[in-house]
Amino acid sequence: MEKLIITAAVTGSITDRSKSPHHPMTPEEIAAAALDAWRAGAAIIHLHARTEDGTPTQDLQSFTELVERITTAGCDAILNLSTGSAGGRASFEERMACLALRPEMASFDCGSVNFDTWTFLNPPGFLEDLARRMLELNVKPEIECFDTGMIFAARRLAERGLLCPPLHFQFVMGTAGGIPAGPEHLVHMLAALPPGATWSVCALGRGQLPMNVMAIMFGGHARTGLEDNVYYSYRVLAKSNAQLVERLVRLSHELGREVASPADARRILAISTQPSGTRYRMGERDEQAP
Ligand code: ZN
Repeated sequence: MEKLIITAAVTGSITDRSKSPHHPMTPEEIAAAALDAWRAGAAIIHLHARTEDGTPTQDLQSFTELVERITTAGCDAILNLSTGSAGGRASFEERMACLALRPEMASFDCGSVNFDTWTFLNPPGFLEDLARRMLELNVKPEIECFDTGMIFAARRLAERGLLCPPLHFQFVMGTAGGIPAGPEHLVHMLAALPPGATWSVCALGRGQLPMNVMAIMFGGHARTGLEDNVYYSYRVLAKSNAQLVERLVRLSHELGREVASPADARRILAISTQPSGTRYRMGERDEQAP
């Protein structure tokens, strides 16, 4: 079986200190959490930006500083920037701003979904714009699917040439308005994948660990991290993102799968071999060119 790619989703835009005192909130804390998760074995770091007071933001400058903090520390993980709405704060245009950094990967939420009290909007026009922008800038879309229909929506975009195979999917399971976290639902989603696709699973709260283990067993990849779940075990808070990554590394080895390095992950996902930091610095040079 192919090596396991572990993604660490270190902060998100919904969870905060009210859920766990260990949640990284400031840019400094988010960068430190990303570095610890990478050292623990995460090949991909899924990043949301926050301001100094912890407010989620899609501001380009905030993403720039965050990426800089992480890459200048020598981290070669694939950086996967969120194009989410910063908890409903960002406009569609603001959501795409971080692509200017030419990250190796960015989230592509392939449809709208109801959360507890609000709707995460991803209408067709926005998805077309986002797909075109990612194609132009050579950013690999991580196609987040909150339900099975979103896999077919991605397949239609691929048929139109807006998403390029091999497609990489992230199944987001256990949200209030999306597909529940459970083995039968995972099997259902897998049956909908196009040939040659790669896939990973993340699940909220108590669904995280069992769905991660199923992904390891079924040959997929796994996302963990405090964005999705703040607990380590029943009523016991995780101390850090790294602690959750370390457990996945141990489980993967026990189940007979090696863990992918960032270089392995680039090969498995067919991402160009330039690390994020190099791409970022190239982008900066381009802007200064006459
Ligand atoms: Zn996220």
